[in-house]
Amino acid sequence: MSFIAENIVKINALLKKTAENCARDPNEITLLAVSKTKSVDDIKNAIDAGQHCFGENYVQESVEKIQQLQSYSAQLTWHFIGPIQSNKTRLIAENFDWVHTVEREKIAERLNAQRPSHLAPLNVLIQVNINQETSKSGIELTEVATLATQIATLPHLTLRGLMTIPDPYQSEAELRATFQQMKHLFDELKQQHQHIDTLSMGMSHDFEIAIEEGSTLIRVGQAIFGERH
Ligand SMILES: *Cc1c(COP(=O)(O)O)cnc(C)c1O
Repeated sequence: MSFIAENIVKINALLKKTAENCARDPNEITLLAVSKTKSVDDIKNAIDAGQHCFGENYVQESVEKIQQLQSYSAQLTWHFIGPIQSNKTRLIAENFDWVHTVEREKIAERLNAQRPSHLAPLNVLIQVNINQETSKSGIELTEVATLATQIATLPHLTLRGLMTIPDPYQSEAELRATFQQMKHLFDELKQQHQHIDTLSMGMSHDFEIAIEEGSTLIRVGQAIFGERH
């Protein structure tokens, strides 16, 4: 087995154990393998280990990889998790199944207009800037409801939930409090909109804590593919 395959087996086992220890169903938590900067061969190793969901950050790089992996496309789901520039929305709308980083009405409108109509609606998460002092990406908590209502009117997008990248320099207690705030916001959004089922939080170094606090999708890069250079 490749070390990538071994890592996937290990992380799936840890995901399951962590979920069960806090009385959650492991099947409601998705492992997203973040393959940015990694090769097509690395992704194939992950596919061989049963991994089907992949996250990418850079449009040009990812579109090339998606095309090279065309023969696997029926079994793969691609998530765009990088910052979105408005001149790149068309490539995202044409090539991805999910986008985690929507934070502006204008971007949502462009993705909606550019989503090819023969494809299923693009699944969208709103990126929330939960630790405002240290991060610039995402919208403030108080703006989530307005953006959600706007996205819900767009026929080629399906609003599925929320995503966040917390400040990595918090203590464990602070990180837990951050994740809890996100979970609270997620539960509120569920009351207001249909199809809300995804809370994207947790990365290589903190996914166990994120699962304990209610994450339904963890984005794991280095713990699967090794360090990025
Ligand atoms: C790179 C990246 C990840 C993966 O981070 P690791 O520390 O390698 O697990 C997760 N989410 C986002 C948004 C990223 O850009």
